[in-house]
Amino acid sequence: MLRTLSVLTGTLLLAAGLLIFLVPGCSSREPERPNVLWIVVDTMRADRLGGEWGLTPYMDRLGERGVVFEKAYAQAPWTLPSIGSMMTSLHPKEHGAGGRLGQFQSVREGVPTAPKVFAQAGYTTHAIVNVEFLKKKYGVTRDFEQVDVESYSNNQEVRNAARTTDAALRYMQQERDGQPFFLLVHYFDMHAVYDPPQPFRRRYAAPPDQEAGPNRTMFGTREHLMALRAGQLELNPEWIDRAERLYNGEVAYTDAEIGRLLDQVAAMGFADNTLIVLCGDHGEEFLDHGGFEHGHTVYDELIHVPLIMAGPGVRAGTRVPHTVRMIDVLPTLCQWADVGAERGFVGRSLMPELQGEAGADRNVLAHGNMWGAPFTAWREGPWKLILSENAQPELYRMDEDPGEQNNLSAQESERLQALQGTLQSMEKTMAALGRGANVELSEAELEALKASGYGGGD
Ligand SMILES: [Zn+2]
Repeated sequence: MLRTLSVLTGTLLLAAGLLIFLVPGCSSREPERPNVLWIVVDTMRADRLGGEWGLTPYMDRLGERGVVFEKAYAQAPWTLPSIGSMMTSLHPKEHGAGGRLGQFQSVREGVPTAPKVFAQAGYTTHAIVNVEFLKKKYGVTRDFEQVDVESYSNNQEVRNAARTTDAALRYMQQERDGQPFFLLVHYFDMHAVYDPPQPFRRRYAAPPDQEAGPNRTMFGTREHLMALRAGQLELNPEWIDRAERLYNGEVAYTDAEIGRLLDQVAAMGFADNTLIVLCGDHGEEFLDHGGFEHGHTVYDELIHVPLIMAGPGVRAGTRVPHTVRMIDVLPTLCQWADVGAERGFVGRSLMPELQGEAGADRNVLAHGNMWGAPFTAWREGPWKLILSENAQPELYRMDEDPGEQNNLSAQESERLQALQGTLQSMEKTMAALGRGANVELSEAELEALKASGYGGGD
């Protein structure tokens, strides 16, 4: 009897197989494409993810079911050029977005962006963002069907992580008639001013800062940043220590809200068919090199960022120890979702790493300075070169000196020359690709940016 059943089942399966082969309606049906959920956590240092800090249990859980890239590098130390690089798989000098206050530049015309590529493959695209630079006119988000942006003229009144998660959940609950989505969600809470809600404030702040209220200490206000950039603010270590504790409170708060988002993604049935990227756009300095905030150097505290990818087909629990770049994420998503990648992308897919294959260090180029003459960082193997027109070259051996404290440019003059040569030829190529277009700002818009702390010493 059993044998008869088994033969019968085999025959049926064979018949079914033949049917699938012979009936065009069945054989030509494409598998449904996966959704993409790309979470950018603004201003999150790589070293706050996991490890001894214990601030990120929910992100760590995502890492356990996905792949954690331990050495992921942003292509710029501030939002506009950095997220520009993520969305175009190009360096700042190639996509053109960046500049400095009063001279901001948008992404060049004609540069393909992530939402455009995914829309062409049948995706509906949506961005939930919380900063001026991610408005459509700066170019980074120009190709999203909808951009849900909240940006205020100060850094205290922001759409917080809870409301950002709510907006993402509302979007995902919408009926899309089977169409896959490409959703960018941008969290802004770790950006100064640090003002974590309870219970995170009480848990992480220094004793004088543990209670919220109208007289609470605020760090990173417009006044602080303006005075800092004008060289009028002395950064005493106690002040910075208190600021950093509040920042840690924001990390833990944002982590909890991302946890709520991811739990709901699973509850809504998206977990098996959604590619999830979680990353930072740049870090934050707490006196690592004598400064505070971001945008002003290209040391690792500002360009080393968290990067986790999770979803179908990845080898869960993999940790990737070699250097990768944020420009590599978009080509990865294209391959992962089987969406044709643009030939102009400079990044290379990380799909082998997602499947558990070993890889090698990728050379990293980062560029920018929100406040003045730009810095360029070039990382090749263990070496990191930093150049700027107003400063002597710096050369660090990152495996022995990860804190970039010991400048070896004098001892390693031949190596310095070789690296400078490589960088120069790359820059020539990029210059040939042209620059971004100027962003026209009204007086009122310029004032609003200054009020949010972007005024610098200008
Ligand atoms: Zn940012």
